[in-house]
Amino acid sequence: MSVMSPARTRATHINLSDVATAHRDKFLNLMDQADQTISVPEILLLHSDAADAIGLQLPPRGEIAVCSCGCNCLIVFDADAAHTFNDGYGETTQCPACADDHRGHTAE
Ligand SMILES: [Zn+2]
Ligand SMILES: [Zn+2]
Repeated sequence: MSVMSPARTRATHINLSDVATAHRDKFLNLMDQADQTISVPEILLLHSDAADAIGLQLPPRGEIAVCSCGCNCLIVFDADAAHTFNDGYGETTQCPACADDHRGHTAE
C-alpha cells in the first residue's frame, strides 16, 4: 500500500486535527496497539507505522507521542522532546510548545 519515496521531506510534528479522518483513525489505532504492548521492538514498529499513516518524520530514536495536555492541541511529536508530569490524576505528556507556554507540574 505504501510507496517508498526516500527523498520526501516530512514534518517533524503534525497537528492531528489537520489529518484526514481515515489517516487519523489508523494512526490512533496503531498508537493504541503500541500502548498495549511491552515489547520495545514491537512498539517501535507500531510507532513507525503510525508515523507513516500521517506522514510524520520518524524521530531519531523512533518513538512518537501525542500531546495529552488539557488544551487539546493534538500535536504528534518526538517522544524524546516530551515534558511529562503527573497532575495527580494521571500522567500527562506535553509537546514542547505546550511545555513552553503552559508547563504542567507534578502534583505534590
Ligand atoms: Zn501540546
Ligand atoms: Zn497545551
